Formats: sequence, structure tokens, C-alpha cells
Amino acid sequence: MRSAESLSLWLDPPAALAGPLHGDVEADVLVIGAGIAGTAAARHLARSGASVVWLEDSRVGMRATGRNAGFILQGTAERYDRAVGLMGRARARRIHAWSLENHDRIAAVIAQDAISCGYRRGGSLQLAGSAAEEAELVASAALLREDGFEAELLTGDAVPEIHRQAGYTLAVLLARDGELDPVAFVRGAARQAVAAGARLYEDSPVLRLDADAPGDVRAFTPSGTVKAQVAVVCTNARVGQLLPWFQDKVDPVRGQMLATAPLPRVFDHPVYADHGYDYWRQDHLGRVVLGGWRNLDPKAEVGHDEVLHAGIQARMEAFLRRYPPLAEVAITHRWAGIMGFSRDGLPLVGPAPGAPGAVVASGFTGHGFGFAWLAGEALGALVLDGQHPLIEDFGPRRLA
Ligand SMILES: Cc1cc2nc3c(=O)[nH]c(=O)nc-3n(C[C@H](O)[C@H](O)[C@H](O)COP(=O)(O)OP(=O)(O)OC[C@H]3O[C@@H](n4cnc5c(N)ncnc54)[C@H](O)[C@@H]3O)c2cc1C
Repeated sequence: MRSAESLSLWLDPPAALAGPLHGDVEADVLVIGAGIAGTAAARHLARSGASVVWLEDSRVGMRATGRNAGFILQGTAERYDRAVGLMGRARARRIHAWSLENHDRIAAVIAQDAISCGYRRGGSLQLAGSAAEEAELVASAALLREDGFEAELLTGDAVPEIHRQAGYTLAVLLARDGELDPVAFVRGAARQAVAAGARLYEDSPVLRLDADAPGDVRAFTPSGTVKAQVAVVCTNARVGQLLPWFQDKVDPVRGQMLATAPLPRVFDHPVYADHGYDYWRQDHLGRVVLGGWRNLDPKAEVGHDEVLHAGIQARMEAFLRRYPPLAEVAITHRWAGIMGFSRDGLPLVGPAPGAPGAVVASGFTGHGFGFAWLAGEALGALVLDGQHPLIEDFGPRRLA
């Protein structure tokens, strides 16, 4: 276990839900990984009556899912005008709509499973701190509205005073966005998956996956094996370790975060600034959670190690201290996490090229709460029914 300081706010303490796999077991479906995507897949499959074995290297939510900021944002990591430029209007609109459907599914699961996770759907703010970014946000909001999405432009006094004082001049309010405690959410949903019959084993890394033949999949852990008809691989940035085709398709990118002690309300909405490189919010318990600034040292912030970057952490703290109510507040947690960035910035969801016995969900490129829940459910549907429309947009083969 890592030191308390590098544990995220949400993972302190990192409780166990299940023990490791000992011995040899069989199932219809093997799910690998217990972040957002794997939990959604395991829950969907188990609730649909499939026999599911579910293997997690460490604990449910211990990796990216338990280290993120808990923003549920619409769209991809690119702002909408850029997304339209990159992928065309019709596709950008469809993909944006998927992210809103994904949010609706998360909200429905929270209600259905009665998960207490500080969930709130009060909107997010995108902030502009330069003329160039103002123009980008204005263009992005106009395109969103033309395409039927809600995006309210805030100028002048309508920009919250706390942000104006910090030098932000314009904002876009995206009213359908939200926030939550990511670990409370994913562990609540995991408990329901287990209650529905999924056999979860934590501390059970898959060391090798044989998925060359559909209907005959084998996975090997240090103290047991699994035989299944299909593997659902949801291992994020480590997908290439089990499925070599993905080695040059998903890159591990590190993100830095910190959190403060609770304080009276300062920020009403989750905030995205500097083109999404900087983000912060105040959670339901009053703690400010702040992350980003990766663009200060992008070459260093790659790899699989969840290590702190002293320079970025210092810059994050200096930024936080600019807000007068935060000048003295204690910083209680600092941590890092690893995101899986796909080569085209879009998730990879569907049949795994080169492994006919596996399907995969990976490459959420910093927006796992934008797509990964629906992606996990879509893999469940793919396994059970042979299809899901999400896969037409996100099928991995597009990167062949
Ligand atoms: C600092 C930071 C801040 C972020 N903030 C946000 C945010 O606010 N909003 C947002 O939408 N997204 C955010 N993200 C991105 C988001 O966290 C991820 O996109 C999302 O968690 C990915 O979910 P996942 O299920 O694919 O991966 P993970 O949560 O990483 O889950 C994969 C699981 O697979 C397991 N695993 C890997 N290999 C094996 C193996 N061989 N055998 C068994 N198990 C294995 C891992 O242990 C892990 O638990 C952030 C990420 C970081 C790092």
C-alpha cells in the first residue's frame, strides 16, 4: 500500500470489498478491472443473469477512478468547436449526446442503487482568462446551442465575482454537468454488482490473458485461473499489457491533484479553465479539490507511476492561494493518477482487434465520467446481445 499522502481524498482509507482469487474457476464472462468501466460492465452483466467472474489488480476504484476530480462533464476533452473541427459536425454532435446519455445512466444508477456519493447535477463552468479563450468559448457555446445542447454564456457581472477577482472575464455554464465522490459511487455500484451475483476478487492481477479463440478464454493470476467464454477488458492505460494490439494506441498520462480541509462555500460549480488544463471544485463536504497544470511539464507527466510532481504541485498550491478564502486553508491530500489517452482522443470501446475472445473499453482521455459508465454497459450489451450503437462511434478498429 502506498503512503497516506499519495492516497487520494476518496481512497483514504482504501477499504477492501473482496479477497483474492485462490484456485481455478469458470464463468460465462470474465471482467478485468474495477474502475468505472469494469464496474458498469460487471453490474450490467450480473443483473442480466450472466455468470461473471471479476478480477481487480488492487481494490475497486484504486486507480484512475479513485484518483480523479469527480467531474461529470459533457463531451470529450476538446471543447465543442474543436471537436467539430476535428471530427465533423454530425459525429461531434452524436458523441456529445453519448456523454449526456452516459450522465443520465450514472444518475439513474445512483438513484436505483441508493448510492450516497455527494452527487449533484448543478452544472459546470468553463472559464476564459484570455481574449483567445473568450473567442473559443463563445464559438463553442454557439455551436452547442445550435446543435440542441444547453450552454449559457456569462459575461460582465454574470461571471461569479470570485472568478472575476481572479482574472477570469467570461464563462460558459453547462447546466447538465455534475459532480460526485467517484469512489463512493463506484464502490456502491460494485456492491450491487456483487449482490447481483458477480464474483469479485480483489488483489488479483491478471498476469496473462489468452483470448485468441472466441468461447475459450483463459486468464492467469498469481494464485488462480479463470476459464470463460469472453473477456471484458477494462484496464485503462494498462490495456496493452494484456492486449498487445493496444500498446501503441493508448498512452499513460499522469495527472496531479490536491485537496483542502473543509471550508465554507466558495465555489458553486465545478470549474474548467485554461482549455481544461486546470480544474477545481468544492465537494459536498466543503473540501476544495484541484488538479491539472499538466501542460507545465508534459514530457515528465507520462508513465504508469502515480508519483507527485513537486513543481506542478507547487504551482497548483500557488494558484489556490490566490483566492482570498483559500489563503490559509490546510492541504490535506496530494496525489497523482494515470489516465489512458487514446491516439485520437476518443474512447476505444468494442471488440478487441487481435483477440477474438475479448472486448475492451479504454482510452477515455481524461473524461472517464463522460463516457466510461455507458461504455461498460455497452460492452455488457455487446456480449449478451451482440451489439450496442455506441460501438459504431468508438470501435477500436478505427485506429488500425
Ligand atoms: C488526476 C486525474 C483527474 C481526473 N479527473 C477526472 C474528472 O474529474 N472527470 C472525469 O470524467 N475523468 C477524470 N479523470 C479520468 C478518469 O478518472 C478516467 O478516465 C476513468 O477513471 C477511467 O476509468 P477506467 O475504468 O477505464 O479505469 P481505471 O479506474 O484505471 O480502472 C482500471 C482498473 O483495471 C485494473 N487493472 C489494470 N490492469 C489489470 C490487470 N492486469 N489485472 C486486473 N486488474 C487490472 C486497475 O487496477 C484499475 O482498477 C481523471 C483522471 C486523473 C488521473
